[in-house]
Amino acid sequence: MIVPRLIERKRDGGRISEAEWHELINAYTAGNVPDYQMAALLMAIFFRGLDGEETYALTDSMLASGSVLDLSHIKAPRIDKHSTGGVGDKVSLVIAPLVASLDIVVPMMSGRGLGHTGGTLDKLESIPGFHTDLTLDRARAQIEKIGCALIGQTGEIAPADRKLYALRDTSATVEAVPLIAASIMSKKLAEGLTDIKRGSGSFITDEKSELALARAMIDLGARRKIPVIALFTAMDRPLGFACGNSLEVIESIESLRGNGPDDLMEVTYALAAEMLFLAGKVSEPNDAWPVLRAAITSGRALQKFGEIIEAQGGDRAVIDDITRLPTAPFKNEYLAPRAGYIARVSPRVVGHGIISLGGGRRTMHDDVDPSVGFVIPVKPGDQVEKGQPIGTVYARDEKGLAVGRRALSEAIFIADSPVAPLDLISHRITATGREKWKAPPSA
Ligand code: URA
Repeated sequence: MIVPRLIERKRDGGRISEAEWHELINAYTAGNVPDYQMAALLMAIFFRGLDGEETYALTDSMLASGSVLDLSHIKAPRIDKHSTGGVGDKVSLVIAPLVASLDIVVPMMSGRGLGHTGGTLDKLESIPGFHTDLTLDRARAQIEKIGCALIGQTGEIAPADRKLYALRDTSATVEAVPLIAASIMSKKLAEGLTDIKRGSGSFITDEKSELALARAMIDLGARRKIPVIALFTAMDRPLGFACGNSLEVIESIESLRGNGPDDLMEVTYALAAEMLFLAGKVSEPNDAWPVLRAAITSGRALQKFGEIIEAQGGDRAVIDDITRLPTAPFKNEYLAPRAGYIARVSPRVVGHGIISLGGGRRTMHDDVDPSVGFVIPVKPGDQVEKGQPIGTVYARDEKGLAVGRRALSEAIFIADSPVAPLDLISHRITATGREKWKAPPSA
């Protein structure tokens, strides 16, 4: 295999065969293909795409790059959920303990921040002592004991995705349907559920590609007999209020205590309901909502989060005392510059703002400051008065406060009349087709 020939072929619109994908991904994982060649190939894929067979071969070779977490001996249903990437999207932190508290096994494999979006692993690692890089044996033992592990790609589990993910993040090659589909599905070892983000803050912003992404993941799952359901959810504004690693953990704990923002809870319940449906616990997803609400109000879901934190080396006491989480030393409110209606809260600008504050990566080897970010309590459609606080910046110094305020002034746009945002949850996509999503009557 001569890598420049493969790059040339893809650049010129040709195909890469199954055998070539396996050889290439093996060689890259072993460190025998340099990042600059792989980055060039990713850019060629970004422009030329991959057909269904190539996407499957890439996914399969990424899956085969490491060991598979075999949980077939566990009798309880196993379901994972993955988001295609968002800002303020802390659903995984709430949904994993919530669903695991209902006797469903949730072996969740997540990622780090990607592009302007945040990553579940970075958020979890803001909990003092929390480890996401578990060995296969430790992850398996934890899942057997408490029904859930929140892990990331390691040298052992999905190592190809670990390298490719970091490379895509820093080479402007994230926003490609086959690369997102292969990255997500190479990590999905249990029955899967996918939250496809729509709107300006998502990686895929046109309707045709959103559907293509859903279909690619459903097809990749079907080839391995893994049922996949996708929900389209809005990412034309951040989800919830908190944006930034530690701030999002705090909001997740509040949500597990029953005080979550409405939009975050609606998306969480809708996805969790699909997980209970896939697990065979309910005959209709909508029947699951009361069960899920009860798991929050009883404190069962919060206790499960505590168990997971403790099992992964973290400070369990954070669930009762959020002041144990990192907090930025500098904090400042951002006030509405005029009266009117919130017309836009741009997730991209907010996401890039977090990176500028030090809460995300510019290069593969950057450290992340867990404490910085924003809390934005307003949503598109809200009416605001001039001088009303519409955001708070959390920064490590005075300079950061200025950077954060500038980001909020660019992210939040106030207009004279109300503007309709995207539906929070618009469609449900299964192997049989696409339907409009319907909220349960009590929602
Ligand atoms: N999540 C992933 O794991 N990979 C992507 O490419 C996007 C979101």
